[in-house]
Amino acid sequence: MNKEKSLANIAREIIACPLCRKGGVGKAVPGEGNPDARVVFVGEAPGKEEAKVGRPFVGRSGKFLRERIKEIGLSEDDIFITSPGHYLPLRGTPSKETILHGSTHLFTQLEIIDPRIVVLLGNTACTALLDSKREILREHGQVIKKNGRMHLITFHPAYAMRFPEGKKLFLKDLQKLKKLLPAVLP
Ligand code: URA
Repeated sequence: MNKEKSLANIAREIIACPLCRKGGVGKAVPGEGNPDARVVFVGEAPGKEEAKVGRPFVGRSGKFLRERIKEIGLSEDDIFITSPGHYLPLRGTPSKETILHGSTHLFTQLEIIDPRIVVLLGNTACTALLDSKREILREHGQVIKKNGRMHLITFHPAYAMRFPEGKKLFLKDLQKLKKLLPAVLP
């Protein structure tokens, strides 16, 4: 089966999954992008805007993220964007169980896409993919090698938008990503 079909199957599984839905509202947001993406961005869970349309990072912080991605020379057509939480959480942030369960779908997406770089946007993404909570303020900008892939730790764009210092550090991390691109892009 080709990658596009496999990812469409995962998206269908997520949409039909009662465990993903638990504690969440709105439309399911399974993630989107290029099935052959060399760079995958992983967030936390959909916000209100995302839950209205079923697409990731289309609200305020999403627009901010997508603009910053373009600034470092990446096209939106080159990347894939997803998250461990697939529904707007009823209580602000997704529960541990939701992250743990949602990550199983996320792992499958990563296995299919097989990117070279995974950009971890904040704590939830780190918890889901690095098996441990990370101190983002201290560890941002670090590249962790795991499963043959680079995992770049950085802030969630909502944090970067809220705090000027966070924005400065987030932009610095994206410059680091920019430097890694020539070695991984086709
Ligand atoms: N925050 C996320 O982590 N994902 C989205 O899609 C939107 C906001």
